[in-house]
Amino acid sequence: MFISDLHLSVQRPDISERFRQFIESRGQGAEAIYILGDLFEAWVVDDAIGKCERGVAESLGALTRRGTPVYFLHGNRDFLLGPVYCAAAGMRLIEQPTIIDLYGVPTVLLHGDTLCTRDVSYQRYRARVTDPEWQQRMLARPAWVRRGIASMLRFASRVRNRSGDRPEMDVAPDAVEGLFRQSGVRRMIHGHTHKPDRHRHTVDGRDCERIVLGDWYEQGSVLTATRDGRLTLESLGDRSDQPGRRPG
Ligand code: MN
Repeated sequence: MFISDLHLSVQRPDISERFRQFIESRGQGAEAIYILGDLFEAWVVDDAIGKCERGVAESLGALTRRGTPVYFLHGNRDFLLGPVYCAAAGMRLIEQPTIIDLYGVPTVLLHGDTLCTRDVSYQRYRARVTDPEWQQRMLARPAWVRRGIASMLRFASRVRNRSGDRPEMDVAPDAVEGLFRQSGVRRMIHGHTHKPDRHRHTVDGRDCERIVLGDWYEQGSVLTATRDGRLTLESLGDRSDQPGRRPG
């Protein structure tokens, strides 16, 4: 099963509750769960976690102890989540893009923000925050300073995204084709854009498929793969009565 962009936070206990129920019910029957980034709304630094993050670690920990592996790769919100938290939750941190064998079909997995190459200001920001030296400097700062910087960056991102659904905020076709070419696979799964859909691409004459997972602000988006090779992209149900839809 694949999920992404849950954006869990203490401000939205309803999403955390939905996630807990999902893990306890559907999670039980899954062979493996892949979380493709933005599990949390804000950066979580392992030594400064709160109630929400502890709750998530507990439910994932209970699942992984019973034998269901949970894999996680970083999103643009939770890129500082590290090995200490992953160990507490029993999650295995994986590099991206990564290629898995999904019941015989090589499939490339990633969060998806690296495909949004037309959003120049975002890519500039990303280059900075993923720089190891910058991350080292951040991690050396006290937790309260980090929290302050994180909320400043979140505010800046919200201002940037306020201009609505700009085309450059979606993935760039040439970046998608480039990754299909580079990885040599014909199937890609990612999140980030919050536009759940299945897209067909033709790359160098090869038919490729790209599956986009949706967010959990209003609807829980889930992709299930079954042994017979079928993929089902579904929504757990509308939550549009809940406030706070935000992009990215
Ligand atoms: Mn994202």
